[in-house]
Amino acid sequence: SANKKDMADYLVKFEKQFTLTPQRMRMIVDSFIEVLERGLEKKGEEVPMLPTYVFGWPTGQEKGSYLAVDLGGTNLRVCHVELEGDGRFEVTQTKFRLTEEQKHADAQGLFDFCAECLDNFVKDNFGDDDGKVELDEPLPMGFTFSYPCEQDRIDHGVLIRWTKGFGAPGAEGEDCAAMFKKSLQKYNTPVEMVALINDTTGTLIASSYVDQATKAGIIFGTGCNAAYMEKVANIPKIKHLNLPEDAEMAINCEWGAFDSTTHEHLPRTSYDIHIDETSNKPGEQAFEKMIAGLYLGEIFRLIMCELIDEGVLFLGQETYKVEKPFVFDTAFLSLIESDPTDELLTVTGLFAHFFSLDTTIAERQFMRRLAILIGTRAARLSACGIAAIVSKQALLDDITDVKKQTVGIATDGSLYNKYPKFPQRLEEGLVDIFGEKGRAIKTYHAEDGSGVGAAVIAAMTKARK
Ligand code: ADP
Repeated sequence: SANKKDMADYLVKFEKQFTLTPQRMRMIVDSFIEVLERGLEKKGEEVPMLPTYVFGWPTGQEKGSYLAVDLGGTNLRVCHVELEGDGRFEVTQTKFRLTEEQKHADAQGLFDFCAECLDNFVKDNFGDDDGKVELDEPLPMGFTFSYPCEQDRIDHGVLIRWTKGFGAPGAEGEDCAAMFKKSLQKYNTPVEMVALINDTTGTLIASSYVDQATKAGIIFGTGCNAAYMEKVANIPKIKHLNLPEDAEMAINCEWGAFDSTTHEHLPRTSYDIHIDETSNKPGEQAFEKMIAGLYLGEIFRLIMCELIDEGVLFLGQETYKVEKPFVFDTAFLSLIESDPTDELLTVTGLFAHFFSLDTTIAERQFMRRLAILIGTRAARLSACGIAAIVSKQALLDDITDVKKQTVGIATDGSLYNKYPKFPQRLEEGLVDIFGEKGRAIKTYHAEDGSGVGAAVIAAMTKARK
């Protein structure tokens, strides 16, 4: 039929737009390296390369009892972590879902909510039957706050900008650690905030606590970001601190901002541009908007909407349900890609159930191809970022046997953990960039960066005092 041919024509066009050749990837890597280096040189660069005041790697022998609060993109998580040394630990946790209202209402109120949840957790876990808590000393706590913060010590952090769809007024330009401490005082919670941590740094350190091959920590969740360990000598912008030349510090790259100012390097499509322009933060996080969980479903949905307008998809049906921004979660792309049936019956069910739409087999096959294109592009762009860190740190230089030696990339987030083939596509991308040597780079799921990582960082910080 006519629209079957239309779909095939469109697919050819989308394949051109969304496919990244190895050559193109290497060009992106080269410019990425330059941008990372520029961020280390001075403050206020596009990719800010934020010093974290986490000095060097953990030994794996850190011990003790710690609280961790994680204000992520989707949930608020409160945990108690018992570090046992030898890379072992135990975690008890509670999760609270954040509402859209909370993400956009007054920021002090958001921190009050965090404090209230923490206070209840402490009462439940450390209090007597009446919830009364009596402790010799306040419980040390690591606060994982995964938004770009300018730090000049570890228990402090001025929010540069909200990302991942947050917009709570009153936080940008403010010290969010201080705001949270103020909320904790309201509840009189017996807790001492030792460190403000980014989830990427938490992932890097948590993973290193259990596996010393770890070289970088990457988050593939609502947003996308990376951290790695840098020699202080390579961070010109903190020269004034007069730290020992051989010291190392974790850097939170905030790489989601790559290519946001000039748009010279990334092959953005009209859909990426539309997402950016209609977002609450236009002109920011260009790289993240092509990769992260918050956006992939929306890219897919925008293409569907265009083809509805062109009379190619869902002819003669009511399509308003799918025309609402952000109704198409990235988890749907996972479902579409993992449908095991020839007739794509999962896809049939998805569209019928969530959007009251009937689909033809041709439409479903088209959707699957489209999901593969969007998911693969995200993985290959991520590979470019990882390759930039690996190249800049010369991590492949000493590799002689890719079967025996490993450059470990610790990751976390639903996109990595749940999107079918995302890890394989990432690793294939790295081989496309580096050739066979790229096989030494292994990505793996790191256990609990914002819980265990926050605890280990709190322990490392206390040990330095
Ligand atoms: P966060 O980054 O907020 O701490 P997650 O790592 O769970 O939390 O990431 C949430 C993001 O992952 C959301 O944008 C959501 O759309 C996406 N997501 C959730 N489930 C899946 C899935 N099965 N496949 C792909 N993406 C998913």
